[in-house]
Amino acid sequence: MPRTIPHSALRTPRSLVRPLVRDLHAYVPGEQPKIKGLIKLNTNENPYPPSPKVLQAVKMVVDGRLRLYPNPTAQPLREKLAKFHGCKPGNVVVGNGSDELLALATRAFVEPSVAADVRRRTSKATHESASSRRRLRTVQYFTPSYSLYPVLAEIHGALGNPVPLKPDFSMPTVKELRRDGRWDFGAALTFITSPNAPSGRGYSTAELEALCRAQRGVMILDEAYVDFAEENALKLALKYPHVIVSRTFSKAYSLCFQRVGYFVGHPELISALDKVRDSYNVNGLGQVAALATLDDIAYYRKNFQRIIATREQVARELTVLGFRVLPSRTNFLFVRPPAFPANGWLQKLRERKILVRWFNCPETKDFLRITINKDAEVEALVKAVRAILR
Ligand SMILES: *Cc1c(COP(=O)(O)O)cnc(C)c1O
Repeated sequence: MPRTIPHSALRTPRSLVRPLVRDLHAYVPGEQPKIKGLIKLNTNENPYPPSPKVLQAVKMVVDGRLRLYPNPTAQPLREKLAKFHGCKPGNVVVGNGSDELLALATRAFVEPSVAADVRRRTSKATHESASSRRRLRTVQYFTPSYSLYPVLAEIHGALGNPVPLKPDFSMPTVKELRRDGRWDFGAALTFITSPNAPSGRGYSTAELEALCRAQRGVMILDEAYVDFAEENALKLALKYPHVIVSRTFSKAYSLCFQRVGYFVGHPELISALDKVRDSYNVNGLGQVAALATLDDIAYYRKNFQRIIATREQVARELTVLGFRVLPSRTNFLFVRPPAFPANGWLQKLRERKILVRWFNCPETKDFLRITINKDAEVEALVKAVRAILR
């Protein structure tokens, strides 16, 4: 007869979860509601579909072969990306979206905090070794920027070091960062969203390079939106061994659904990431879609131009209506609306079946982030804004 376990020995399901995970603030993705006729301007998806050649390539492989594992290193895609960027396949690692790679970088380059170690630091250790141990555990980023970074630090048990951008969301210079004192030039890992999200502001390669030169830990330049900008900083990833450029097929290449992103960087850092990723981290249909995308870049460049033209048009119209529109180098606009608080606008637009994004943080709460859609959709937005203002 099996003995029954005394009730007192049973642990509550909650107590089975690590304290760190129990108290975690999970990342909040933009809504994907299923409301008929809704105009979605909230998650920076591309309004234009993938190239017909990409759709064809994916359809061609949807058959009995779905039972097979995909290429474990996404080798053909690595090789094609290497050719595309003028580097070696050893400079490239592909991920299940760039989000996966950002998480892997945290795991590969940052020491998790150990509670006991933190305690020891305050008692015996010398000031210098305490600060150098702290650096090894630090994930650093500007605020506001991509709200996933603090979540990645927290999941890993690392220390986040958020440092504010200037009030107009431009990047402080190295000199200003040194004077201010909050920036850690030895942080194990620094994330820079360039162009910035959610502000849309672009940073020049020269200012990024100046920061890279001053920084000793790993620097990840997250270029998720760079195809809508005038400059990119890819050359820095091939020039400096501690700099990685992160790219994604999601936003500019209309493949959010497929989850493909990649890093370009020094082979030592790339092979470290290769060690900690899942063996088959990139799904086969995603690899096929990304390969076909690289064969039809001209199709996408045309769409970048259309999105940029729409962006500049709606920026002018909203400015006329009294919005403060920040200069954008992305496929979205960051705007400060007139007359009502920004979250009031969020509600009023929602009532008119238009969904935009609002971030409830001190630096961003007066703004709305509006994804650039096709002309008809953004015209509907401008019409709704006029009606609300009336
Ligand atoms: C959308 C986004 C990503 C993630 O892209 P995926 O490749 O879809 O995971 C990364 N960084 C920033 C700043 C983004 O906006």
